[in-house]
Amino acid sequence: MNYVTGNTFFLNFQFIQPAKPDPMKYFLSALMLMASLSVSAQSEFNPKSKSDKDKEFVISELNRKFPVYRKVAKDIWSYAELGFLESQSVERLTGVLRSEGFTITTGVAEMPTAFLATYGSGGPVIGILAEFDALPGLSQDSIASRQVITEGAPGHACGHHLFGTASVAAAVTLKDWLIKNKKAGTVKLFGTPAEEGGSAKVYMVRDGLFNDVDVVLHWHPSNDNDASPESCLAIKQTMFRFYGKSAHAAAAPQAGRSALDGLEAMNYMVNLMREHIPQEARIHYIISKGGLAANVVPDFAEAEYMVRHPDARVVEEIWNRIVEAAEGAAKGTGTAMKYEVISGSFNLVPNETLARLMYNNLKIVGGVKYTPEEMAFARQIQSTLDFKVPPPETAALVQPYKTGGFFPASTDVGDITWVVPTAGLGVATWVPGVPAHSWQAVACGGMSIGMKAMNNAAKTIAMTGIDIFNNPSIVSQAKKELGDYVGPDFKYKSMIGDRKPPLDFRKGKQ
Ligand SMILES: [Zn+2]
Repeated sequence: MNYVTGNTFFLNFQFIQPAKPDPMKYFLSALMLMASLSVSAQSEFNPKSKSDKDKEFVISELNRKFPVYRKVAKDIWSYAELGFLESQSVERLTGVLRSEGFTITTGVAEMPTAFLATYGSGGPVIGILAEFDALPGLSQDSIASRQVITEGAPGHACGHHLFGTASVAAAVTLKDWLIKNKKAGTVKLFGTPAEEGGSAKVYMVRDGLFNDVDVVLHWHPSNDNDASPESCLAIKQTMFRFYGKSAHAAAAPQAGRSALDGLEAMNYMVNLMREHIPQEARIHYIISKGGLAANVVPDFAEAEYMVRHPDARVVEEIWNRIVEAAEGAAKGTGTAMKYEVISGSFNLVPNETLARLMYNNLKIVGGVKYTPEEMAFARQIQSTLDFKVPPPETAALVQPYKTGGFFPASTDVGDITWVVPTAGLGVATWVPGVPAHSWQAVACGGMSIGMKAMNNAAKTIAMTGIDIFNNPSIVSQAKKELGDYVGPDFKYKSMIGDRKPPLDFRKGKQ
């Protein structure tokens, strides 16, 4: 899954040529796997008739309502609202959910554009994530050449208008299926704002919103179709601030204490530390403030630090050592030091139990098949990329299932995966080769290719949810897998402490 988030950059994984797809074979093997997932459920579960009917229900419902959701997605694409400012987008999504009988709570976890929509009662409780924020400065029309709509305005370059809408569509389909089949079960749609740098999900996990959820399903726009389990890097971002005493640097240096000395001593110690940390760790810093004039001893200096590692617990260990280095540096230079944690998110914990299920459903749904017009659009947009890209026909394929996937970046979904078993997929909303956070991604997401892929994501999530409602033992299996990963002593503690959500971080940029 070439999937991307606010803290990330796009990854061009090497394209792997999968075997020729045979939908029927996959369909049958999917059914066989679902039947084999739970021995206890097997006796009451007749895969062939029941599961076929459920999959058909999802496909026909989502095809029938496709024009409605396409309109919702296009509206949100047009609003292109930045993080924590997504009021119209939230209104649009909650409007659909409210009219479908969901109970809506807005402003959760102290964020006005975060919401929770709930339907049903009893277990299993299935959570679905929805994002909807845009990116600054990426205004672009839905055509295959660069055409800004409004100079300097935001654009949906990460496809979150599709993300939010497909997730709502999946939640509504699950609700309709519960009603039709008179089943117990709860659907919780989490409206998670400001993914691009605001990390709203971390605040939602910290506030316990996921405590009563059994599994979480999500997806992300991508340039291929892939439901393999993946992990990523945990990250902690901190500002270190040193306070010294100003003095004339030539006339009275003895009267001064340089805040920059403190900061440099800290950086020096951290750079020595690099030799004695795990191989996969990453430490980055910049000096954001280092004094105002060379002839004045600086009384203030500041550095922004990021620590990353594939395991959140290792990030915490390294971060504690960095804080000690900063304290030592302050002591040695006669300065004072304070730090402020800006953000932090855990790595993704892959869950194979759920990922397998999701993959089998993605196989049933398939990839994105282009019409001749879409193929022409795809070729034209690929001609604007100056690197090697996979053939556009590959959008119709599903990438082979593989374990051990890893992308060297971070996402705020991570925290959720440590408290609830979670699975996600990527769907080819963008023409193969098109990177996230590009004008080409805005263009694809605003036209039929993005919309068709969105419907595929909704179908895959809905089918996976139904599998779980039909076989609640999947929940215990998925929970056991998570428990084995985190270990018996793990207790979730957010990396951000008691920090308030940065609600104003995009204000004035819309
Ligand atoms: Zn994104």
